[in-house]
Amino acid sequence: MKQHRFAHAGLARTSRRIAAGWLLVGATACSRDVAAPSTTTPPDSTAAAVASVAVTPSTLSLTVSETGQLSALAKDQAGNTLAGRTVVWASRDTTIATVTSGGLVAARAPGSVAVVGTVGGKSDSAVVSVAAQALAFNFTRELLGTSRSLSAAEQSADPVSGLVTIEGGDTRQPATPFSIAWGDGDYTSGWFPMTHTYRDAAKNYVVRITAYYSGTSTDYTDVPVRFVAPQISPAAYPASLAVSIPTQLPVLTSREPGYLPPPGLVAFDDSYFGAVLPRADVEYVLSQAAAVEAGIVENDMESVDGGFRQVVLRDPVNGGAYSLWFTSPVAFGANGAYFQGTPGWSSLFHEMGHNFSLNAPAAFRLGGRIDGCANAIVSEALAQMFQHAVAFELVNNATRYGLPADLALDIANSARASAGVVRAAYDAYLSRGKPFSTWNDPATPGDETFGTFMTVARQFMVHAEQAQSYLAPLTRVMRLLRRFDQAMLDAYAPQANDAAASTFRATLMVAAVSYGFRQDLRAEFRALNFPIDDATFTTLYGSLP
Ligand SMILES: [Zn+2]
Repeated sequence: MKQHRFAHAGLARTSRRIAAGWLLVGATACSRDVAAPSTTTPPDSTAAAVASVAVTPSTLSLTVSETGQLSALAKDQAGNTLAGRTVVWASRDTTIATVTSGGLVAARAPGSVAVVGTVGGKSDSAVVSVAAQALAFNFTRELLGTSRSLSAAEQSADPVSGLVTIEGGDTRQPATPFSIAWGDGDYTSGWFPMTHTYRDAAKNYVVRITAYYSGTSTDYTDVPVRFVAPQISPAAYPASLAVSIPTQLPVLTSREPGYLPPPGLVAFDDSYFGAVLPRADVEYVLSQAAAVEAGIVENDMESVDGGFRQVVLRDPVNGGAYSLWFTSPVAFGANGAYFQGTPGWSSLFHEMGHNFSLNAPAAFRLGGRIDGCANAIVSEALAQMFQHAVAFELVNNATRYGLPADLALDIANSARASAGVVRAAYDAYLSRGKPFSTWNDPATPGDETFGTFMTVARQFMVHAEQAQSYLAPLTRVMRLLRRFDQAMLDAYAPQANDAAASTFRATLMVAAVSYGFRQDLRAEFRALNFPIDDATFTTLYGSLP
């Protein structure tokens, strides 16, 4: 507590020092535009009355600890600029941004705040948006930035000779050779395929390949090179949340009438794992992911056999992976391809996200109730949020979870790829004219709701990127959705293909995401063609502190 307060005091001092230094710059700028930003000289009482004030710029986007300058221009009734007037500046929320008497704004915490300039009793304001400082791993580029033209992957790694070959390409076709930092202190330059012989093949490496384009533009990609199993330093997780990949098919019983696991499921035999990807290491990562996901639902999921111990089973017929949220033990199926080469981590986190979110809340679990043609706006949007929240958490806190760099990079690359899918789905939703739908028509081969639920996930992720925080907002999203009860189910009407039910479903998710970020996002979603009922929104959004 004491330490906490001290840290804040230190921050405030630093901030003031920066602000004071910048004040001179701000004052110079201000004197050109408006007037000297003096706070000591009282306004000239004989001067003309102020009729209007305009604060410029009207919006300011900053990152935490950045500063930005605002100006206020006062005019009289005739539209003449009134120079030399004192501007009184105020921030509506000084925890997000502060403002000096000279109009210099200092960003303090992620969020949005109005900063008001008042002259002679007239006011105007600017909206200041503050983004968090980016963490080492995030999805900002995948969601909002330029796509990656450079790709590379380990093609072979011989643990006897130490010889490694990396294959790849760059669709921008740079004219300058790539530079390669091999991770063992050696640096070379060249083209694909790239080879290197490591002196020590008893450990793994992360290789950084940098591309140089015309001008000063560069880009890079990181590639894990694996000779041995990832060197995990195990961190504890609750045994009741352990995920296992059993060697023998367990007896699966259904907890939901009418729901049966698909036939033909088998266990993953040892041929799916090996020296560089031991079964126990995959189980470890999935168990840590499960512990994170249980935290997102605040452990408010149906208890299954006294815990929530998921098992991973192999589907030799169907591609992809799927959730078996309704079985005991809770399970998910995955095609064998998921454990050949690099595991499909992000998809596995996705299926586990279904398992947790559909078994929540314990008192009235969503699974089995919202199922049918109208479930995806909740279940699929949530699974997307869960998978990226877990990757964000595990990669940015890899040391705490005992994950070595090469394994964290695997997870990062997997989640970046799936974030790219979210972005592509959103882009397609826009280009097709925002075809909002919560009803997957069983008579058509496609899923009409795909663009809609991916857009919900995308909006969540964009706000999470701005805050550089996924777990806290997603926990709040789930907190609101865990209020699901019979009355909400009646309004959700999962078997009804009508406008009122569709509006409720949209409003429920917009209220949940809004609650997640403590920000009314109705306008943003309305612009994306989501039908929102204001009364329902207000009731849902206001139902929790
Ligand atoms: Zn899914």
